[in-house]
Amino acid sequence: MNIRKFTSIILAASMTAALFAGCKDEEVTTVPTTDPSAVQTTETTVETVPETSAITTHTAEEYRTAGVNELNSVPILMYHRVYDMKNADTEYTGGNVDKDGYNRTSEAFEADLRSYYEMGYRMMRLTDYVDGYIDVPFGYSPLILTFDDGIRDVVLQGWNDDGTPVFDPSCAIGILEKIKAEYPDYNVTATFFVNSQLFENGEENDRKIMKWMVDNGYDIGNHTRDHVILGDCDADEITKQVGAMYKKLDEIIPGQYVNIIALPFGSPEKMGPDKPQYDRIFSGTYEGFEYTSKAALLCAWTRCYSPFVREYDNTCLRRIRGYDNGGKDWDIEMNFAQLNDGRRYISDGDPNTIVFPSSDNSSGDWLKTTYGHQVITYD
Ligand SMILES: [Zn+2]
Repeated sequence: MNIRKFTSIILAASMTAALFAGCKDEEVTTVPTTDPSAVQTTETTVETVPETSAITTHTAEEYRTAGVNELNSVPILMYHRVYDMKNADTEYTGGNVDKDGYNRTSEAFEADLRSYYEMGYRMMRLTDYVDGYIDVPFGYSPLILTFDDGIRDVVLQGWNDDGTPVFDPSCAIGILEKIKAEYPDYNVTATFFVNSQLFENGEENDRKIMKWMVDNGYDIGNHTRDHVILGDCDADEITKQVGAMYKKLDEIIPGQYVNIIALPFGSPEKMGPDKPQYDRIFSGTYEGFEYTSKAALLCAWTRCYSPFVREYDNTCLRRIRGYDNGGKDWDIEMNFAQLNDGRRYISDGDPNTIVFPSSDNSSGDWLKTTYGHQVITYD
């Protein structure tokens, strides 16, 4: 790799603008960021600058053709249990195991994953999304998978001689591993939100499984210790429910769990200053263990906002329930029909830029934060 060494005082915003100078299309505009950290004069010592550090841009024609729009919405799927069943084995609509569609047959879940891939979605980690870091190839859309409760998501069959787990091929992680092997460019990943009983394979097994999971591209988050309705709890109870679960995760996989909570029953839906106890969902100290949450997930109905737009709220991220209802009542089919009808986030392939058509700029206040990214509009 070709590297250079230099020390200089730079204006960060003008430096990023300069990176564009050589490849800027006439119709492509770089918008000065309003992020104060990006416009202040900074003394920066750059020890090594890989030549690949420049931001990748495309022509307006290329953005237009691909429909790039990083202000549009992102599907965060909410699944629960995956059962070893065919769709014909259930009395409910297309692959639902229960009346409300919280649980899915293995046949339907596998078909869901293939369908998202065929529609041009590629998976990414929830924690990266919350950090505003969306790394999906040019022209593709991000897809985020989540599982709540842990039950039947990870079913252990035994252990290989090398210490790796053998999973039931029909459980969620068994199917995810199968799809991962089949589609190397799908970036298969998911976040599993657990309670104190973990995955119910026995505490010792689950501890070993969780270490394997975080080393193999999966994430584990907090679903409270006892699966309680936090909206009904006082501050001390919230601290116990949230803090005890983080403490347990920190013992099992220190520094490798995600500081994100899936709210049981989607409660509370709104935080608000009139309910100060809800602050304990986001920070507190339980038995000497300090914790923070950087985001909270609601239960499901629809797509989530781009993390860059004003409506985005990390305290109540929306999800899509992974179920079938004949294309009605916010099922998978209904949600993806809406997404695919001009509402889906389509990536420019560079996680360090925010690209969208200038026509989306009409209100002038669309950006909540730029996360230090370069903003690019096109006509
Ligand atoms: Zn739950």
